[in-house]
Amino acid sequence: MVTFFIKTYGCLANVADSEGLARYLIDLGCAQVSQASEADLIMVNTCAIRDKAESKLYSYLGQFAPLKKQKPYIKIGIIGCVASYRKKELYQSFDHLSFVYGARDEMPVLQSYLVDAIEKIAVLKQLFFQDPDGDLGGKNGQDRDVKELVAKRNISKFLGGSPRGNALEEFLMEAVPSSTSPEKEQSLNISEYNLKKHIQDGMKKAQNNASPEVKRSYINIMTGCNKYCSYCIVPFTRGREISYPMKDIISAVIKDIEMGSREVTLIGQNVNSYIDPETEARFPELLKQVAQIPGEFWIRFISPHPQDMTHDLFDVMAQYRPKITAALHFPLQSGSNRILQLMNRNYTSQEFLEKIGWIREKLPGAAISTDIIVGFPGETEAEFLETMAVVEQVRFDLIYPFIYSSRPNTKASLIADNCLLVEKTRRLEFLRKRQIEIAVQCNSAHIGKNLKVLVEKRLARGKLLSRTEGNLRVLVDGSDDLIGQFVTVHIKETGPANMIGILVS
Ligand code: SF4
Repeated sequence: MVTFFIKTYGCLANVADSEGLARYLIDLGCAQVSQASEADLIMVNTCAIRDKAESKLYSYLGQFAPLKKQKPYIKIGIIGCVASYRKKELYQSFDHLSFVYGARDEMPVLQSYLVDAIEKIAVLKQLFFQDPDGDLGGKNGQDRDVKELVAKRNISKFLGGSPRGNALEEFLMEAVPSSTSPEKEQSLNISEYNLKKHIQDGMKKAQNNASPEVKRSYINIMTGCNKYCSYCIVPFTRGREISYPMKDIISAVIKDIEMGSREVTLIGQNVNSYIDPETEARFPELLKQVAQIPGEFWIRFISPHPQDMTHDLFDVMAQYRPKITAALHFPLQSGSNRILQLMNRNYTSQEFLEKIGWIREKLPGAAISTDIIVGFPGETEAEFLETMAVVEQVRFDLIYPFIYSSRPNTKASLIADNCLLVEKTRRLEFLRKRQIEIAVQCNSAHIGKNLKVLVEKRLARGKLLSRTEGNLRVLVDGSDDLIGQFVTVHIKETGPANMIGILVS
């Protein structure tokens, strides 16, 4: 049996893509393993959003060179956003790579490549273990050496000279893309995405988890983005927006609920731009339809864009609360209007705050999280303090703060940046420190309350991890039987990251 391992970097859209591929490979008869060293097929799903993530990827990839040398039959591939725009460099820099397929358009091409690759791996693995000379991998253990080796040796001696053997010889000779042919790979782009298949493949979590964990469903409702924020590489890696048919999304959710999912997260780069290609229904209608699916489960979505937030979204959320959880990820990015304009965010801090007011009015007690970029090119201390003023006013439950990272092809990468990294780091730490204080205060407001939570899994230190409707973490004592159950807990203590509760029901 061919074993596979997928390492996923980046956002939930990547998580959903990896899960879809895992499901696809399991359906093809492969087994998922938890260590790359045990896998015959290794895929790294990449994130291009920040320079740091990309650097991490390169050092991660380097460690597979000895593995490929040791086991030349394995295939190592790069997929996702970095693969979309660094294909040539990846092939040139890493001889041990067998394939590179970018996000979105190349996914169906990748799926058909995998069908062939799995059969090749199975045969090469067999040859490797039968090889009396032990030189299947050639001097560097690369696929190209395997190809040469198969060409110069009488492969039929391993395959019994059967017609099947001849077919396999041809099959092996076709081998894998070489480092000199990235252009050929690029020509494999397809124009049509097999949406239904992708959604259905992507909807189910691999079911061979060893430790019990709540079943969750991550469903891509759209992909790509038309916003072109000046700092963001996503429109270049995932392309323009494509929304998937609502009926396919609904049937994916129904199937997942039938299979035991207790939480469904609808994913898109900009979910409130969603528009059903068949009926032109918008995101609030999709949310309503999902909420009307029978069963006890929670619905979340990520991410909305503040510019596209409309009253009807909050009306639907209020109508179906708590099935649609009152938890919003609402990315601010900056509190300075000048910086927001440079970022091409299409809202002002005043408009952002106005929409926060809508949330507070229609969804009292809603948990709000956000992303903030500090040190955008040219950001002054005064502009950073404008961001802090919004933070003080909103009092977010959670902030994901980042230092600006210059990305290729983006407009922001052309803006002169005279702010030193040391200063950016100071701003980041200042924001982080203040947010911890705010989170402690926000969480302490829950002491003495009874809250409904969904129990997720057991943590290494023995407690059960559960989450509230607002996605806040609550640790409780209890048996594994509670995993996947909705229960009520009484909040006894709180800290910046976790609350401690006692089981009530
Ligand atoms: S909305 Fe902006 S930040 Fe988000 S994916 Fe689109 S371009 Fe990137």
